[in-house]
Amino acid sequence: MARGPSPQKRAADRRKRRRLADVVLERLGERYGHPTWAGPRVDAVSELILTILSQNTADTNSFRAFTALRERYASWDEVLAAPTDELEEVIRPGGLAPTKSRRIQHVLAEVHDMTGGTWDMGFLGEWPFEDARAWLTSLPGIGRKTASIVLLFNFGRPAMPVDTHVHRVAWRLGMFGRTTPLERAHDLLEEILTPEEMYPFHVELIRHGRDTCRAPRPICGLCPLTDACGYYADALRGRAPMAPVPRRRGEADAPPRYHDELIHGWTPPE
Ligand code: SF4
Repeated sequence: MARGPSPQKRAADRRKRRRLADVVLERLGERYGHPTWAGPRVDAVSELILTILSQNTADTNSFRAFTALRERYASWDEVLAAPTDELEEVIRPGGLAPTKSRRIQHVLAEVHDMTGGTWDMGFLGEWPFEDARAWLTSLPGIGRKTASIVLLFNFGRPAMPVDTHVHRVAWRLGMFGRTTPLERAHDLLEEILTPEEMYPFHVELIRHGRDTCRAPRPICGLCPLTDACGYYADALRGRAPMAPVPRRRGEADAPPRYHDELIHGWTPPE
């Protein structure tokens, strides 16, 4: 049977992750204005449906699909009762509409049952944390990332969502390996962050992954983390690609997408 790392190695890795987290929180905090959680950006049901729409598609598409859905239907009851092929047509801009329309109605049916038709998911802020997360991840198509987004963004609970940007910046820095599964990455980050640090850390890494530490090539010349970054050390030795610094600073700014819009106060149409 394969043996895992020794306790000493695990402790050293954990200390390294913590040191890197300190650097990130200080320097990216300064760059991105020390984001703090100021209450839900949308209601919890909207957050769930948004994240389903955002699966395997660009944010601009899911944003468009969500807006179309809220313009077409006046309530979640209407979305639940809609003919599935009609809902599929409405959310087609979000991609994978046949799968997502069924998934949305399954999730809404579960939420309807759990809330007695009130759509008030406040229980997720009151239940023991593990119970709340287990209920969310039991919903069809809802994984650890989506559950963490709802718990963190809607209820300020200590969950650390790891999306593709967070995972990429974290592995490049050296917080875990490039092939570390997403589920494991959630555990590795949650064990070294305090509850108050999870929101700023999440937002800062997403911003950085979009603005600077991009896929497939990061613009390390614009990054304040170079002296702490394992990827940058490899890049200096010619073992990893970097993108040149754009001639005009504006070229390095990622276009706004729905996540940014939400972070900056966008609310869905009534
Ligand atoms: S130095 Fe480069 S690879 Fe490292 S975090 Fe910054 S942009 Fe990403």
